[in-house]
Parts: sequence; C-alpha cells; structure tokens
Amino acid sequence: KKDKELKQTNKPHVNFKDVAGLDEVKEELVEVIDFIKSPEKYKKMGAKIPKGILFYGPPGTGKTLLAQALAGETNSTFFPASGSEFVEKYVGVGAKRVRTLFEKAKKNSPSVIFIDEVDAIGAKRTTESNNEKDQTLNQLLIEMDGFHSDQNVVVIGATNRLDLLDEALLRPGRFDRHMHIGNPDLKARQEIFGVHIRNKPVDKSVDIKKLAQKTHGMSGAHLSNIANEAAILAVRNNKKNIGIEEFDAAIEKVIGGVEKKNPHIV
Ligand code: ATP
Repeated sequence: KKDKELKQTNKPHVNFKDVAGLDEVKEELVEVIDFIKSPEKYKKMGAKIPKGILFYGPPGTGKTLLAQALAGETNSTFFPASGSEFVEKYVGVGAKRVRTLFEKAKKNSPSVIFIDEVDAIGAKRTTESNNEKDQTLNQLLIEMDGFHSDQNVVVIGATNRLDLLDEALLRPGRFDRHMHIGNPDLKARQEIFGVHIRNKPVDKSVDIKKLAQKTHGMSGAHLSNIANEAAILAVRNNKKNIGIEEFDAAIEKVIGGVEKKNPHIV
C-alpha cells in the first residue's frame, strides 16, 4: 500500500521550464524521463534503466532544482535527503536511515531520491576505520545494488567535489552517470533572470542582457537572489515596477556578499 499522505506532499510542482540553461544536462535527462514514464519499453528491449545519477559542480547551480524538476516531469514522489543527515555518532543509525529512505521510495514509486552532499556519506574510505561511516556507505551500496530498475526508483546524488567520492559508489549499477552542473554562461544567466522575473512587474527599460553581463561568475542562486532583492527594493521605494536602479542596487548587494565569502570569485 502506498503512503497516501506522502504522495501528496512530496510531489514537486517544478518542471524543466523552471530550470534555465543547462541544455545538455536537460537533454540527457529527457532520456531518463522516458525511462521512468515507460519502463516496459526498455524492459522489452532488454535495456537497463539507470539507477543512479550524480550531479556535480559548484553550489547554487540548480542541482536540487533539476532533481525536483525530474520528479515533477515524471510525476514521481520526491525524497530529498542530505548526506550529512546520515552521519551519526552511534553505529548503525545512519545505515538504518538509508534503509528506511529506500523502503519508502520503493513503496511510493515512481520515486526520485535526492541525496545532497553525498560526499558526506560517500567520501573515499581511509585506512583509519570509522565504523559508523563505513556502515552507512555500505548500506547505500547495498540499497543501490538491491533494487531492480523495474522498481522505478532513480537516485540522484549531488556533490561539489566529485574527486572526493569513493570509487565503489561510481561503479556501474550505482552512480554511473555523471553530469556536470556548472556556473551559467552569459546566455544562461539571461535565461535564469528570465525565469526569476517571470512573475514580477519589471519596467520595460530593464535590459536583461545587460544584467547578465554585470553578473559574470555568479550562480543561479545568486541571480535568483538578485531578482528577489530588486523586488523588495521596489516595494521599499514605492515603485509600481522594478526598475534598473533596483536591479543595480541588488547586484551590488549580492556582489558584496559574494566578495565577503569568496574574494577571488568576482
Ligand atoms: P547546493 O550545491 O548549494 O545544494 P544546488 O546546486 O542544489 O546548490 P539549487 O538549490 O538547485 O542549487 O539552487 C538554488 C536556487 O537558485 C534555486 O531554487 C533557484 O531559485 C535558483 N537557481 C539555480 N540554478 C538555476 C537555474 N539553472 N535556473 C533557474 N533557477 C536556478
């Protein structure tokens, strides 16, 4: 029996149209969508559906958003988790959490499991033993080996550091498809602004291309932040529409924040 409540709460209303740029990644994911939507077609042909996909790249570039969109496009139940949630003091706790997560996902399939910061569980094992961590990683490997592609569960892992991950996680049948999610280029920044001003009253004089030019090196999360800051400023300034002054001030503010955190980016 499926968890009715869960089915309703974990259905993201996010689609590919909410994810701007990343055209190549989206193209690759279209295939995965087809797998999830019509698994019989692939089964008949003797093709194995991918179980694990790894998104890697800098923070704020849309990894979580893409995973949600994959669930949204396929009407799958979304199971978000963060690798750090599984790292516990007591041996066996993390492993048990992994087991429960997969059980729920299988029960409510089609499902997309999203494990952010997967390196927190899946970092290369060292000679120094860490029972709790090793058991958690082992359990993840067991779960990924243990379900069949016709159970209609896709696991997406996300990390900023692909090089940190244990080889065992990257083997065929586990996270064997790797997709790089990078910072947006000029065109993508323009498109991301497009998505984030979609439902905002923006003054006709605002040139999105110029905004994109002024935000070199920023992530999608920064751009979404700028659009929101600009809207807040427009309210504060008693404006009817968001004008270029608000966007410029918002860009300055976000650049200030970025510089403080990471002086070599901008
Ligand atoms: P982290 O590595 O920090 O978890 P992430 O790559 O998962 O980051 P998201 O959480 O998906 O990043 O992005 C944060 C927010 O930034 C999104 O909710 C969205 O508003 C905006 N954003 C990021 N990338 C894009 C994009 N390509 N298109 C549209 N919006 C984006």
